[in-house]
Amino acid sequence: MATEKFEFKAEVKELLNLVINSLYSNRDIFLRELISNASDAIDKARYLSLTNQIKLNSNNFKIKITPNKEKKTLTISDNGIGMSKDDVINNLGTIAKSGTKEFMEMIKKVKETGDINLVGQFGVGFYSAFMVADKIDVISKKAGEDTAVKWSSKADGNYEIEPAEKGDSGTDIILHLKDDAHEYLDEWKIREIVKKYSDYIEYPIVMEVEKDKKVEEETLNSMKAIWMKDKSDIKEDEYKEFYKHISHDFNDPLDYIHFKAEGTLEFTALLYIPSKRPFDIYYKEYKMGPSLYVKKVQIMDACEDLIPTYLRFVKGVVESNDLPLNVSREMLQNNRIVTQIRNNITKKILGKLEDIKKNDFEKYEKFYKEFGNVLKEGIHYDFERKEEIAKLMIFNSLQNEDKKIDFDTYIENMAENQNEIYYITGDSLEEIKQSPHLEYFKDKGIDVIFMTDEIDGIIMGALMEYKKKKVKSILKGDLEVDENIKKEKEEKEKEYKDLLERIKDDLKDYISDVKAGVRLKNSLCCLVGDENEMDETMKRLLESLGQAAPNSKRILEINLSHPVMQKVKSLYEVDPKSSKIKEYSQLIYDLALILNGEKPVDPSNFASKISEFMEKNI
Ligand code: ADP
Ligand code: MG
Repeated sequence: MATEKFEFKAEVKELLNLVINSLYSNRDIFLRELISNASDAIDKARYLSLTNQIKLNSNNFKIKITPNKEKKTLTISDNGIGMSKDDVINNLGTIAKSGTKEFMEMIKKVKETGDINLVGQFGVGFYSAFMVADKIDVISKKAGEDTAVKWSSKADGNYEIEPAEKGDSGTDIILHLKDDAHEYLDEWKIREIVKKYSDYIEYPIVMEVEKDKKVEEETLNSMKAIWMKDKSDIKEDEYKEFYKHISHDFNDPLDYIHFKAEGTLEFTALLYIPSKRPFDIYYKEYKMGPSLYVKKVQIMDACEDLIPTYLRFVKGVVESNDLPLNVSREMLQNNRIVTQIRNNITKKILGKLEDIKKNDFEKYEKFYKEFGNVLKEGIHYDFERKEEIAKLMIFNSLQNEDKKIDFDTYIENMAENQNEIYYITGDSLEEIKQSPHLEYFKDKGIDVIFMTDEIDGIIMGALMEYKKKKVKSILKGDLEVDENIKKEKEEKEKEYKDLLERIKDDLKDYISDVKAGVRLKNSLCCLVGDENEMDETMKRLLESLGQAAPNSKRILEINLSHPVMQKVKSLYEVDPKSSKIKEYSQLIYDLALILNGEKPVDPSNFASKISEFMEKNI
């Protein structure tokens, strides 16, 4: 078989250009990436052999680094799973998920800001080697196959593939170093980088060195699983580097927890809270969960049963010796020990978040901006902990437009006779602030929580109450207002009874009822939902997902103290059957729709009515 030429996918070309041309401040990390890939490849081989899915010649796993000073090459070899021709094309010729909108946006942002770190979350991994090499050869043989394959590229937009010779399965990555990168041939330099970035790698990273005229193999890393070490023996940088290794994220983590559970349930966990939201956290394919180790062996690289979905941003490692080595995914699902570990971990993480919120609010705001939406899902899914999770919510409010508060602060500032926690949902803060529903609360100095995330309607609906106080949408149902206002409302409704009946009849296709609006001060009217009805933002969310939202009619509240209503009333008193009344009814309803950010029933009819009024009044 001859050499075949391939072109990189467009997005790989873009990425390569960024990697090569941007002056990435720390080129050393290329070695960390290649070692990390080698270690992943060995993990896979070890797992498949352990579960008898493949047969290996040797279980003497290692990663070998070979500098060649004459040829100016640096070779990183592993005896892991290896790659077939197809694997090579798929893994080194494309970037997983690169077709996504997020990837394109990232490329654009990197170009604008020059912040190459943004590339990190997409796994620039292998390609980072082009920072130090102008040509790379990859010779690989997949475990269980007879033939090997060679991939080479000069990062010029193309790569070549040809058949190759190789004994054992595994992969050799041969870097032809750039002229300005010959420092990576130096043994001291290699030792230093491995120690710094890859010390915790579980397999020996070896290099042949000459000692007393004899060549011997030196192991460069301590191989000690970082999570099993004593906390006091771990440097901050080690924690960070280990995070980058397991998460494939180039950014430092926001925080971490490292603990050992002792007693009836024994396990060790090292868990990280990332500082940036992974682009795919809302995708089905997102791999969640810490990796699971049993007796030092990695059983699964992302064990989703170890954490609840609403904490899926957490990365890390859990090691338990109470589980059997040959545990399968299915077995884990309903395993009692796994459930206990999950509960324990959940408690720890929520506790940690509470800690950050209490002691470093600025940091917490950063966290919340990235992951608040994910965390909130827990209020819906984790009934037992919903109040604990709600405690972690932060938001703006009518009286706190510029700073975030939480439920506890809201409650502290409630007036003595206020029994409910009020909130309003909407698409944006700007829109919410304009809402006529807030008029009453502004007037009375009662605070209202602002909720602008799509899922907030569901979340608050699921929460129902916080610290025994009902959480109540001011867009729905009756408000518990003070006695005087109640009386006033009843009187007005009596006074306007017939007219209200007439308006209700005019609008019976659109609304379920017409009431005197006690929430209104300056505005003429507004629409409110039924107490138990689905939130408007929620309905819109369902519709955007192509699902049918229940189409229940709302209640029209009219401000009967408004001058317009006096006009309508006198009109009604003169001629209760007047067709003018119907026109007014329609206009009032259209106004309520517009105030709600919706369209009038019939926009062209609405427009012609308004022009008519304008004509008359000018
Ligand atoms: P990531 O490690 O985040 O998946 P990389 O760019 O580092 O991204 O690697 C791309 C892919 O190439 C890996 O997912 C893996 O499938 C394959 N690969 C890279 N190096 C090796 C190796 N030494 N052995 C086997 N497969 C490898
Ligand atoms: Mg990698």
